Amino acid sequence: MDTRLLIGSGFEEGTETPEQVLNPRTGETILEVPEASSGQIDRAVQAASTAFGSWSRTTPAERSAYLLKIADRIEKEADDFAALEALNCGKPINAARNDEIPAIVDCYRFFAGAVRCTPASAAGEYMEGFTSMIRRDPIGVVASIAPWNYPLMMMAWKLAPAIGGGNTVVFKPSEQTPLTALKLATILADILPEGVVNVVTGRGQTVGSALINHPKVDMVSITGDVATGKKVLEAAARSVKRTHLELGGKAPVIVYDDADISAVVEGLRAFGYYNAGQDCTAACRIYAGDKVYDNLVADLTSEVSKIVYAQDDDAQNEIGPLISQRQRDRVASFVQRASEHKHVEITTGGAVHGGNGFYYQPTVVAGALQEDEIVRREVFGPVVSVTRFSDVEQAVTWANDSDYGLASSVWTKDISRAMKTAAALRYGCTWINTHFMLVNEMPHGGLKQSGYGKDMSLYALEDYTAVRHVMIAH
Ligand code: NAD
Repeated sequence: MDTRLLIGSGFEEGTETPEQVLNPRTGETILEVPEASSGQIDRAVQAASTAFGSWSRTTPAERSAYLLKIADRIEKEADDFAALEALNCGKPINAARNDEIPAIVDCYRFFAGAVRCTPASAAGEYMEGFTSMIRRDPIGVVASIAPWNYPLMMMAWKLAPAIGGGNTVVFKPSEQTPLTALKLATILADILPEGVVNVVTGRGQTVGSALINHPKVDMVSITGDVATGKKVLEAAARSVKRTHLELGGKAPVIVYDDADISAVVEGLRAFGYYNAGQDCTAACRIYAGDKVYDNLVADLTSEVSKIVYAQDDDAQNEIGPLISQRQRDRVASFVQRASEHKHVEITTGGAVHGGNGFYYQPTVVAGALQEDEIVRREVFGPVVSVTRFSDVEQAVTWANDSDYGLASSVWTKDISRAMKTAAALRYGCTWINTHFMLVNEMPHGGLKQSGYGKDMSLYALEDYTAVRHVMIAH
């Protein structure tokens, strides 16, 4: 496949040390992708900067038409995109094809509609003799940097509102998962005017760092680790760039004594382990009421032990491997340290899956306490902890007692308790009697160290545009 960078309207081979892109199911190298040089990064930023002049003056209807064309092409080549994403990330093909690709196509279509009806305050005379109006204008060149867990979806979340809002972009996929971005680059070059989207490959410390420090980049949008987000902020402080940070998560799941336990267990099996738990909203930190705790742990253990993975017939697989050996070692070390506590019981899983690939057994860590590392730190693997609570206030206090603030859920039949809890939680999203459900019309984004700025929804368009006031004297 084509592993060249997209700079302006041309494709060129990266000139720096190639990165081995691995198949996480086998650990074998799929291919090598060369890294962009600093000169190539400069030219990509320059191409975006040059394109901004005319792109920012296109009408919303024109930009909408481009976004619709991108959506149509992804939909037309859905099978190929899904196969490539499954190969590079180890995702079950059904998850890539049936869950992710339709949501990605819908993201471009949502923003195609949204850019044509951006809301704003009414123009009017707020001072006698003067008329004021609000403009929403693009920001400029956006450096967009994506993680490895949902490569093509994160690209959609970043590109659609950015270019829909009239900005131009230099996009860097994760060095571990660049394949679908490289494929999409060939389509974008067919559809979009020169320089509107540029794609450069390479590592964070080199290419990513060059982008976030580049003087001609006006805004940095990154999805990644909290530590990476802090580096973006340090770089942004030097040149006062706008930032959009989607960082990690450690989603609390409060299960009250009156919850429908079979629905909770079914939900946790799906939403705690989807994508092998490599999801910033994964339902991974369970707080179960005293009365339901024992049943919940027993039923969850039984269900999680039935999760199908690592089968040769991929159609049967519910989850895949972790992205890399490093990530699997990290997950294994979290579970190992948790298991050393006397109060903790690993009721299922708790070990590396033998054989090829970076698989880790779906795991339940029961009896975890609030101060345990497994409850406090993001594991980003197929591991769910369960903690017992005795009163409502304690559950909410513990749920909020986290550096993260991305997603949360509450499970109860009592709507009043559900609403009170939702109001008290300090998370970008709270689901009630479900978890993990995302729709393009609604915002996704965090509080606290999970970052700020919204993906999807009209709020993302706000983030990728600047509010301006124009006043006319008359
Ligand atoms: P990461 O921070 O290591 O890498 C993310 C991206 O940043 C990669 O493209 C990487 O090359 C780049 N990068 C790394 N160091 C950089 C630097 N110094 N300068 C510029 N760019 C740099 O994260 P990851 O391991 O790829 O992804 C997993 C993390 O992402 C998890 O913590 C997860 O919670 C988070 N995540 C958050 C969301 C969200 O919406 N909040 C969504 C998905 C993933």
